[in-house]
Amino acid sequence: MPDVSDRTAAVHKEDSQVRQKNMIAAHYARLARAPETGDKNVYTFVPGNLTELIRSFDLLPVLPEINALQSAMRGKSRDYIAVAEKLGHSEDVCTYVKCDLGMMKSGNVGPTGERLPPPDLLLLSYTGCFTFMKWFEILREEYTCPVVMLHVPYQGDGTITDSMRRYVVDQLRDKVIPALESVSGRRYDEARLREMLARSARAEDDLVAVLNSARQKPSPIDAYFGGVYYIGPIFSAFRGTVEAVDYYRALRGEVEERGRQGLGPITPDGPMARERFRLVVEGPPNWTSFREFWKMFADEGAVVVASTYTKVGGVYDLGFRHDPDRPLESLAEYCMGCYTNLSLPRRVEMLVNYINDFDADGLLINSIKSCNSFSAGQLMMLREVERLTGRPGGFIESDLVDPRYFSAANIKNRLESYLQMIEQKRAGKTA
Ligand code: SF4
Repeated sequence: MPDVSDRTAAVHKEDSQVRQKNMIAAHYARLARAPETGDKNVYTFVPGNLTELIRSFDLLPVLPEINALQSAMRGKSRDYIAVAEKLGHSEDVCTYVKCDLGMMKSGNVGPTGERLPPPDLLLLSYTGCFTFMKWFEILREEYTCPVVMLHVPYQGDGTITDSMRRYVVDQLRDKVIPALESVSGRRYDEARLREMLARSARAEDDLVAVLNSARQKPSPIDAYFGGVYYIGPIFSAFRGTVEAVDYYRALRGEVEERGRQGLGPITPDGPMARERFRLVVEGPPNWTSFREFWKMFADEGAVVVASTYTKVGGVYDLGFRHDPDRPLESLAEYCMGCYTNLSLPRRVEMLVNYINDFDADGLLINSIKSCNSFSAGQLMMLREVERLTGRPGGFIESDLVDPRYFSAANIKNRLESYLQMIEQKRAGKTA
């Protein structure tokens, strides 16, 4: 979920990327001015974020994972991680956490170089990853603000029951909303929340149209490397805003026009000349060498047509939409439906469907050393997807924001071997 004012500056920019960059920069600038303007903020996480609810109180969301990945793209994460490790955080801890803590201990200067305000509230929506809880336990010791936790039941058997929904709605009504009222000094305004949720649904429709455009051949988008730009506003601070609606409308127009012209995706070196491979990717990307990583794929004509990472902040392509007629219920369903809250069989089912629906050549997993939430079970998932689709799987390893775990030569070798395997398989089919 980057903006484009980072070390990927040589990346060819689409208009939507420039628009997105400006939105994110303006958000950071507003946060930096908070001590003068009196704007209050809520630190919260991407999966299960309650952006519309937060914004309906005129509070500003701050997403620590976004700060970490943005810091990594600007080459700052190495030093922040070193600060956290000096404080005793182990090498195996999620590097988003260490990057965030290092940033905080180094003056809380955000990725754009402006100081971030301390949180007025820590709001933890607990969706699947245990690290989220530990992360805010640490922050709780550092700040004096209130903390509220929304416990989101895990979708162990792949369904959301009425009692699960009620359980989350009750917490929203009895715990989260009173906390937001107290921090903001405003009363809960359900009409305002409904308006925001209606805007969310419009933006979600357009995002899904963009993601589904990858069914075309050639695909007009890359749904992983390009995809992280596309999800930026809706997964971070902008869901429910007019800017998000405008951004996704413009993005959809841009992508549909590329599709009409039969063009491939924009890559770091400009439009892709020929689509040679269509891949589904599981796992987050590496952020410290994002451009180099992307180029390895683009240089081979490998396009990612679907990815699970672009679903961490909402699985909209499976049909979920925020619903203004059921405001709290739909927020509850959103939290429970996030990718990190889905069981392994559900994840396998999604991957198999992506391979079939997008006619992909196979599944490639980018296993992230320090992210247990994604990495656990990935080899089993790979074998299952291979078995169910008959298409080959590949496996590479890197890290989110720790540059020590990005071995370019190793990744390139493995990627090339995997693509050769696909070619051999194709040759075998046509022999
Ligand atoms: S372990 Fe993975 S899912 Fe959990 S906070 Fe870290 S990066 Fe996010």
